[in-house]
Amino acid sequence: TTDKILVSACLMGRPVRYNGAAKPLAHPALERWQAEGRVVSICPEVMAGFSIPRPPAEIAGSGSGAAVLDGAANVVDATGADVTRRFVDGARIALDLARAHGCRFALLIDGSPSCGSGFIYDGSFSGQKHPGAGVTAALLRENGVEVFSDREIGALETRLGET
Ligand code: SF4
Repeated sequence: TTDKILVSACLMGRPVRYNGAAKPLAHPALERWQAEGRVVSICPEVMAGFSIPRPPAEIAGSGSGAAVLDGAANVVDATGADVTRRFVDGARIALDLARAHGCRFALLIDGSPSCGSGFIYDGSFSGQKHPGAGVTAALLRENGVEVFSDREIGALETRLGET
């Protein structure tokens, strides 16, 4: 296919994570998509104006990205600051980019309060995970973008009919 794919910038090797690191994914499909000019690299948090590095953030109270979008949960950082507004801003910018590039698929890193799609952390900053999606992944899904986690790249290849 010629589908463009929204990809977390940290997966593309860009050092944009809260701790100033990248989390590069070495996979032939990702290399192929990049060579074909089909990767739309996004970091919702940096696009929303957060600095690198920044304090880690989690969705409070075991909430989900969908609850944040509904105004029923907040995103807080490890200093206790409420960063909900910026996380929603980042999600909206990501959705705008997906629309501008016609992306129907996204490959996002799991566990992030923005990009997580299978699990996120529970807001206690103690490493406790629970099933759920981050704010950007939730907004993309609500708007028809199919979101795959970094561990699901094989499933995305299959979905694209490229295996
Ligand atoms: Fe990576 Fe997404 Fe976090 Fe940006 S917001 S550092 S792209 S996981």
